[in-house]
Amino acid sequence: MSERAFLREQGPTLWTMFKDRIDRMVALTDADPATVEYFKHPKQVITVAVPIRMDTGEIRFYTGYRVIHSVARGPAKGGLRYRPDLTLSELLGLAGLMTIKCAVLALPFGGSKGGVVCDPKTLSQRELERITRRYTSELVDVFGPDKDVPAPDVGTNSQVMAWVMDTYSMNKGVSVPGVVTGKPVAIGGSHGRGTATGWGASVMTARALEEQGKPVEGASVALQGFGHAGRSTAEHLVKRGMKVVAISDSRGAVENSHGLDIAALVKHKSETGQVAGLQEAQPLARDDLLTMRTDVLIPAAMHDSLPGSIAPRVRAKIVVEVANAAITPVADQSLKDRGVLVVPDVLANAGGVTVSYFEWVQDASEFYWTEDEIWERLAKVMVGSYNTVSEVAQRYRTDLRMAAYIVAMERVGEATRLRGLYP
Ligand code: NAD
Repeated sequence: MSERAFLREQGPTLWTMFKDRIDRMVALTDADPATVEYFKHPKQVITVAVPIRMDTGEIRFYTGYRVIHSVARGPAKGGLRYRPDLTLSELLGLAGLMTIKCAVLALPFGGSKGGVVCDPKTLSQRELERITRRYTSELVDVFGPDKDVPAPDVGTNSQVMAWVMDTYSMNKGVSVPGVVTGKPVAIGGSHGRGTATGWGASVMTARALEEQGKPVEGASVALQGFGHAGRSTAEHLVKRGMKVVAISDSRGAVENSHGLDIAALVKHKSETGQVAGLQEAQPLARDDLLTMRTDVLIPAAMHDSLPGSIAPRVRAKIVVEVANAAITPVADQSLKDRGVLVVPDVLANAGGVTVSYFEWVQDASEFYWTEDEIWERLAKVMVGSYNTVSEVAQRYRTDLRMAAYIVAMERVGEATRLRGLYP
């Protein structure tokens, strides 16, 4: 489908938002026009049919996608999401964000994203495995440690990555652990990958507090979303001495001004499927969490979950955008106008992809690191990247998001120029 036809069908989307941000960045710099065009033209967009036999014997068709946005700086890298409302535009925008994120973190990767339109909550484990194996088989010539490397994202996990790795390996006739990251440690996964996103988010939160001259110890945080990213973020914030005073999920929210007991909330959520109803916490209307008086607000749920209608009422002075594209452009402008410091997604959640890079390196060298080594190297990469972006923000008198885009554009631009145009 042509891009024009696609936009006619879908209206303004995550992909148009991504391209708008590229245009805003271009207005601040003298970016090479050719590099800018590369950002607006994804390298490859693939749609596959995924027919599987359900447990009932019925054959059902699902739709799978893979978007490879860029390979200018190395193999494409990006998550795999299983979601009933998944759209191609969402994946285009998220693949572009991966190109930015990997370049900002100076990882030798391009960007990609993919997934299957399905609701994992309504599928059995066997059905989920069949979907994963058939989707992987359809993309066996696209994936590869030197081509395109998937990882877990919304609706997928380390078990799904194990199935991708096994299916790819069976097709190739040899075990290829480096084809995915975020897989279990027993088959070539890395220590720390499961909680790296939260670890990195807690480092970014502490750095932002320091930048505003506020103490990290005892800082209060409201956290939207309690899935993989939200849970690990909460755990690491508490380990660094911060106080998570409110947490929401799609069904409700809870608060405790003294700080929520995260271990108790993990147990409660696994038993009841929701955060609401936790003992020693008060109930809270889900979206009231976004406008609470706290030091930090962390959206860690889904894209567009901090919209322009709510942003003017946000009272936190720091917003750490752990969910990709959580803050809409209108909300972003509103927060900026009011002097709120926003740590953008490409920095805030980059702990995940950085440890994915460590996993890929370990698989390639067949030499595995200790957990301490992972955290030490991750801290260096994350803090170094924050400082680089912060310096560029000061130099261009802009916000951290635009500064991150400028850093990425320079790095991808340099790679593109050096490689030249084939043929
Ligand atoms: P997940 O599916 O495990 O969790 C999502 C959570 O958000 C769930 O608790 C859900 O109930 C909640 N939620 C949904 N809508 C909500 C709403 N309106 N208000 C409050 N809560 C709501 O997904 P995840 O893996 O945690 O990913 C979340 C976000 O973080 C995504 O944008 C993802 O791309 C990003 N991210 C995740 C990782 C990772 O390692 N998991 C890494 C980088 C970025």
